[in-house]
Amino acid sequence: MRVRFWGTRGSIAKPGPSTLRYGGNTSCVEVESADGTLLVLDCGTGVHGLGQQLVTTRKPPFKGHLLVSHYHWDHIQGFPFFTPLFIPGNEWHIYGPGGMDQQLKTILAGQMTYSYFPITLEEFGSSVHYHNLGEGSFDIGNVRLTTQYTNHPALTLAFRIEAGGAVFVYVPDHEPNSLFPLDSKPGSLPLHVQDRRHVEFLKGADFLVHDAQYTLAEYPAKVSWGHSPYEKSVEYALAGGAKRLAFFHHDPLRTDEDVERIVLSARESVRKTGCKLDVIAAEEGLEIEIPEGRAKKRAAIKASSSAWLGDDETKPSGTILVVDDDPLMVRLVEKSLEAENAMRLVTVHDGEAALKAAMKERPALIILDWGLPKLDGIEVCRTLRKDKDSLFRKIPILMVTGKRLDEKDIQKCFDAGASDYLTKKFSPTQLRSRVRSWLLRSAAG
Ligand SMILES: [Zn+2]
Ligand SMILES: [Zn+2]
Repeated sequence: MRVRFWGTRGSIAKPGPSTLRYGGNTSCVEVESADGTLLVLDCGTGVHGLGQQLVTTRKPPFKGHLLVSHYHWDHIQGFPFFTPLFIPGNEWHIYGPGGMDQQLKTILAGQMTYSYFPITLEEFGSSVHYHNLGEGSFDIGNVRLTTQYTNHPALTLAFRIEAGGAVFVYVPDHEPNSLFPLDSKPGSLPLHVQDRRHVEFLKGADFLVHDAQYTLAEYPAKVSWGHSPYEKSVEYALAGGAKRLAFFHHDPLRTDEDVERIVLSARESVRKTGCKLDVIAAEEGLEIEIPEGRAKKRAAIKASSSAWLGDDETKPSGTILVVDDDPLMVRLVEKSLEAENAMRLVTVHDGEAALKAAMKERPALIILDWGLPKLDGIEVCRTLRKDKDSLFRKIPILMVTGKRLDEKDIQKCFDAGASDYLTKKFSPTQLRSRVRSWLLRSAAG
């Protein structure tokens, strides 16, 4: 499997003398498996160079697969400039997270409307097919792809790509759900269950490309922006037993010298752990070869584990129960979920009312404040999880809290049966993405 970086920068393209080595183009990575399957991960400005190379080195017709992690500009801006899409005879499959109010094709068409671009989506010369994805797996040729939502203020998918025993994992935009434990031993698991799930996702990667936009020192000013301090990326790679890690989504303000410093510091901390992990920084033009063995027969993907989103799955409906005694907080939740108009919001203000409302409404998800009158959120959570009705054992419960949680609090929260938690103040986009990913996840079973 061959991996080549065409765009490594996060947020906005940053060409110039300070980014000559690692590159100024936004996210785009080319992957080609031994059977010739061509994958393009993200469509930042880097995809322009890849497109030029493909049209000069490959005779049409050829086929490719373009996987978009999410629709922030730095991941789609190059899309209308990807020349292979305009060549008659070519066949392109475009994949991206479905399940928001707008689907993949509509979103991509949105940046090609009259005011933004002179050509519309309908004018591509090649045959283009659009596929909405959720969490799960699917196959392209000999390649098995698995997707998982990341923690980002937009519904975002990470990709795990496996072929002939080679494992490549791409996590362009992801923020740790929690920094705990702070004094983690090398290779130990994070405290937050969603961070553990993240580590499980990247487990055994031969090559992991991971968001490393910030440093831990910068992070307090960037909480909820959706990106990782590089130190956490190293911890995840170590915990997941990855062999090689490339820092990715470099901050636009990060110069080549800064990136070099970060890599050296990460290598030094890895050396001290005694673990084996090769740390590099993604660099435009850098090509990494991951040896593939003979393609083995794979187990078929069950319908319940498929990443394909059917039309009826793209817009979950039902009730969200919001439990909070703070009117301002309730207002913020309502505002954040305003666009979720297929969902009905039911609000109650204390723990006892929460239990009654849960039984009556049988909601699809509960947003539960920790500090509540009568019965606190932890007690409500425990009581629901013990209920004989199986619905309450699996319903996603998103705990929200205004207090600064320490490690014991987080443990208590998960021991009580919470699926996830958010600390106030979270951003509206963050809450909406979190809610939507839980709804899609639980709808998929
Ligand atoms: Zn990004
Ligand atoms: Zn993003």
